[in-house]
Amino acid sequence: MADLDGSNYDYVIVGGGVAAAAAVDGIRQLDDSGSVLVLGAEADGPVYRPDLSKKLWLDESSSLERSALLDGQDFDLRIGTEVTSIDPAAHTVQVTSGATVTYGKLLLATGASPRTLDLPGSDRIMYYRNASDYRRLRELAGEDMPVTTVGGGYIGAEITSALTQNGVRVTMIFDEELVQQRLFPESIAQLVTDDFAGHGVRLLAGETVSGGELADDRVGIRVGDGSVIEAGAVVVGVGVVPRVELAEAAGITVDDGVVVDEQLRTSAPDVYAAGDVASYLDSLLGRRRVEHVDSAEKMGKHAGRNMAGADEVYDYTPIFWSDLFDNGYEAVGDLDSRLDTVEDWNADRTAAVVYYLRDDVVRGVLLWNVWDSSDRARDVIARSRDGKLGRGELIGAIPTS
Ligand code: NDP
Repeated sequence: MADLDGSNYDYVIVGGGVAAAAAVDGIRQLDDSGSVLVLGAEADGPVYRPDLSKKLWLDESSSLERSALLDGQDFDLRIGTEVTSIDPAAHTVQVTSGATVTYGKLLLATGASPRTLDLPGSDRIMYYRNASDYRRLRELAGEDMPVTTVGGGYIGAEITSALTQNGVRVTMIFDEELVQQRLFPESIAQLVTDDFAGHGVRLLAGETVSGGELADDRVGIRVGDGSVIEAGAVVVGVGVVPRVELAEAAGITVDDGVVVDEQLRTSAPDVYAAGDVASYLDSLLGRRRVEHVDSAEKMGKHAGRNMAGADEVYDYTPIFWSDLFDNGYEAVGDLDSRLDTVEDWNADRTAAVVYYLRDDVVRGVLLWNVWDSSDRARDVIARSRDGKLGRGELIGAIPTS
């Protein structure tokens, strides 16, 4: 590809993740000839990120190549290329090499960066986010090479489940008493915790990490009482922070994320945002920022379409899902166990619908081993918000089998 400096594209997408890939799709639905440039800081082009902690470990027919997005699309991709500044007035972006690119429409799909802990730098310690992290963990983890996971959220739980099912001994360190306690009511968090223990995971609950030490092929993680947990690799999942710096420096409105309107436009002309970085107006739940792939895909595609002239209101409320050993779930809305919850279990307590309420209004629905019900969950949230479904009517509102 020619040197970037001085080039001119109809569409420039900053970020090379799922939202970026979906945006290319969206643009191409309406504009099959406009020039598109994707600038990704990662070493790989867009991959379907959920596969990195699930399918690639659990489905033998999967491969990183198959998880790659955008096959067959006509666009220019620059990986390992970080955008250093945006000038919305001049309609230009600058990249690390100093090259300047002019855009017609710009999408900020910069995603989020993992939070880090005060640990020594080592390629055996992964803040698990991208394809390189997957490759490295594949190299390191094995039946004779145990792994420590840190954090009781999505990454900690999914990687622990995936590795354990690959015969890897895993020690999971997390600061809550139960696995995914922030998300689930106690009944389900306890069930998940017991299931992890039953599969042989060593659980260090209620522990914080106070440091780490490196030896030849081992990393030691020090926990609160001073003891050191040794492993061949450490996967840390302690949350992410939206990458808003570029937008902020360009004077674009930021509030937790890059603020977009109902058409996914930022405060700067011809600049859109989508995915983990975007604070958007959810038609059911109000202004929010969502760090899940369904949101990145739908918002990315929608932003692409709008950049290409569709001018459509974004009115999608995303789902998210996870698989943990033999259990799985889908969910819509706010899953925060500090909210008031109503649990509706099936007869043999293998499946449940959990409603999360604030001031008696449903804000979120967990479909625990319950499938194909996300539209019903959205409907419950809407009817509850509109005062058409009372708290006492929730049991049975969504079938548990
Ligand atoms: P999560 O936000 O899911 O979980 C982070 C966890 O780390 C929380 O339990 C948090 O607890 C804990 N934590 C925070 N700080 C510390 C600390 N200093 N020491 C120990 N624990 C700490 O983030 P992940 O890192 O697991 O995942 C990264 C991103 O990827 C998230 O946005 C997630 O939504 C997304 N993802 C989504 C998946 C899905 O939808 N299935 C799968 C994998 C990733 P506390 O609440 O107390 O801060």
